[in-house]
Amino acid sequence: MEPVYLGLGSNLADPWRQLCRALWNLRRLPGLHLQAVSPAYRSAAVRLPGDEAEQPDYLNAVCLVSTRLAPRRLLGLLKALEARQGRRPGRRWGPRPLDLDILLWGGRRWSDAVLSVPHPRLAERRFVLQPLADLDPTLRVPGRGSVRCLLVRCGGAPLQHWPLPWPEGLA
Ligand code: ATP
Ligand code: CA
Ligand code: CA
Repeated sequence: MEPVYLGLGSNLADPWRQLCRALWNLRRLPGLHLQAVSPAYRSAAVRLPGDEAEQPDYLNAVCLVSTRLAPRRLLGLLKALEARQGRRPGRRWGPRPLDLDILLWGGRRWSDAVLSVPHPRLAERRFVLQPLADLDPTLRVPGRGSVRCLLVRCGGAPLQHWPLPWPEGLA
């Protein structure tokens, strides 16, 4: 099975607990096998140009999974998990208790109205590249090059991070 990398993010309602709960929920999704979890990284919220509203910092992490689910089916299940953890429709890049993105699906590249893989903004986001490099320093983003090079190119200071617990026994 191809390695699939998922991104997790939260900046509302106790982000640390939201990430732990999301991992616990992902581990129990039928058809998906959780294989590795990165540390959690803290960074300032990405905002749309002109959006002056203050937002709490984000905690972001990535995980490696293997799955026999089809990509669109997985996306639907991720959206259901977001809703289960209290995410409601809101403005673009607004605050949310949980955001789950499909970052990479092996070496595949495709894009349609619902799903783009690799995630289109992955290469500019240190809070995604750093945890990806933690899980596999040799990882490549199809069409964009190595995660290591992308990390150098995206600039900025290294982000603070903390190890996340492996999700067992969490309520
Ligand atoms: P960003 O995509 O910049 O990280 P976001 O995660 O806040 O922003 P959402 O509002 O969560 O964006 O998602 C908007 C739409 O993006 C979703 O409804 C989904 O159909 C689409 N989408 C396209 N590609 C992906 C992907 N790789 N992972 C998750 N959603 C995706
Ligand atoms: Ca996102
Ligand atoms: Ca998303």
